[in-house]
Amino acid sequence: MALFDVFEHDREIYRAEIAPWLPDRLIDAHVHVWRQAHCASFGRAGRLVRWPARVAGENPVEDLEETYRLLFPGKRVTPLLFGMVLQPSDDHEAGNAYVRDVARARRWPALLFALPEWAGADLERRLREGGFLGIKVYLSLSPPAIPQKEIRIFDFLPPHHLDLLDRLGGIAMLHIPRDGRLRDPLNLAQMLEIERRWPNVKLIIAHVGRAYVPEDLGDAFEKLAAAKNMVFDVSANTCREVFVALLRAVGPERVLFASDLPIVRMRMRRIAENGRYVNLVPKGMYGDVSDDPNMRAVEGPEAARFTFFLYEELRNLIAAAREVGLSREQLAPVFHANAARLIRAAGGRDLDL
Ligand SMILES: [Zn+2]
Repeated sequence: MALFDVFEHDREIYRAEIAPWLPDRLIDAHVHVWRQAHCASFGRAGRLVRWPARVAGENPVEDLEETYRLLFPGKRVTPLLFGMVLQPSDDHEAGNAYVRDVARARRWPALLFALPEWAGADLERRLREGGFLGIKVYLSLSPPAIPQKEIRIFDFLPPHHLDLLDRLGGIAMLHIPRDGRLRDPLNLAQMLEIERRWPNVKLIIAHVGRAYVPEDLGDAFEKLAAAKNMVFDVSANTCREVFVALLRAVGPERVLFASDLPIVRMRMRRIAENGRYVNLVPKGMYGDVSDDPNMRAVEGPEAARFTFFLYEELRNLIAAAREVGLSREQLAPVFHANAARLIRAAGGRDLDL
């Protein structure tokens, strides 16, 4: 049995709209691989939404490879890997060891999922032993006493970790916190502070700073005009207006193609409503979503035409590139060369890029 269905309309979207813009080799800069036992909190954590676990309860590397075969026929895709650690109680040791082994066997780049309380020397030992090129951090690993809405970047990406990454020239993959997302002034100030105080850190802002609808942008790119190094991954984002603003503000050389697999295997279409995103999904496919304000079940012919989240991301990125006036050649580095340069600069040698 196939991992998931690919329908004729999916193939047609890929063939007609997406494939002509892709180079033969891709680097996917944001990919989670984990076994269920590594992340017991996935889909169960009280404050986090539950539907992601209905798309995939785990993402073993075999499933990832099958996903690439199904979604990118004829292409070679190298992922920048990391695990899935949502709570300190998750088995981050086993999860990071799994990522290390998978990456080593395939000569793929990988990041260590880091807990903020680790001492610098401890983090350095873990990075070296695993051959990791940097760290993936997550807001829910912040000290538990801090209320969710008050979490700041430095609560889960602490200065002593940035000191080490700066010395090593390592990567920090950052999913920014706070309800204001990319337009949040504190987020913007701390993003700029990272670049100023730790200029050798390769900072990747995941999901274009979680700006999923135009209202999330605010004046972010004006404030970020001072930044010259940070790059933005487009994973799990389908907002054409945001991609247009991003490409205009930082140019294609600081944008990375990335998926956030396995979640973007989801069949959906995202709309913006009152400044908030809503994922329209086929009724019943991902369970009862009626208690989730970001999800809406749809029936009938519209639902039958939904395609993959990843294809929606790509067709909107391509539409944005067209709107900005970029040619296929000008957009191509987003899919490979930009990430390859960053990975090599972070110490990734001998990798299959
Ligand atoms: Zn992610």
